[in-house]
Amino acid sequence: VNCVGPRSCYCEGKRFAESLTFDFARIHNLKVHVARIFNTYGPGMRVDDGRVISSFICQSLRENYITIYGTGDNTRSFCYVDDLVSGLIRLMNSTYCGPINIGNNEEISIFSLAEMISKKINKKVNIKYCSPREDDPRFRKPHLLLAKNKLDWQPTINLDEGISRTNLYFRKILDL
Ligand code: UDP
Repeated sequence: VNCVGPRSCYCEGKRFAESLTFDFARIHNLKVHVARIFNTYGPGMRVDDGRVISSFICQSLRENYITIYGTGDNTRSFCYVDDLVSGLIRLMNSTYCGPINIGNNEEISIFSLAEMISKKINKKVNIKYCSPREDDPRFRKPHLLLAKNKLDWQPTINLDEGISRTNLYFRKILDL
């Protein structure tokens, strides 16, 4: 973990927010729940959100190319929004305080994601390789055992199905 890089205030901010939340709970004798939300996607995202799934779908639909930062061998695991919401509701209604991971552990490389999205859009899409982002994590995949044991929750919508639904949503809002 780089504590002083360009993205550090984001990660450090999240860690600090957890510490403050638990201090607040102790001081005021409150019950808190802390969810660690991993990469999430789905209908409702903004076109200019900037994250990888919305960018790849909108670029493919509108411009026939996809921009990959670096080589595309970074991996991520993407959780469909409905699964995330059901996980948060389970956490709110549980006695478990957390922190607890809410996400999906189906891991995919960014290159394979680009291929998957262009196939789904059914178009020949070119890949533009750009400079890698500074301090871009090589991989990220949540461990979900705690959520299964404490909340009896696990994601149910796989990436293929989630991308199809998200594709339909972006086609609609882009009026295509
Ligand atoms: N990414 C990419 N092209 C894009 C947007 C993102 O290659 O147009 C890559 C990015 O470098 C990272 C991964 O996709 O390796 C996930 O990026 P995102 O910003 O969605 O999430 P995060 O980096 O916060 O996990």
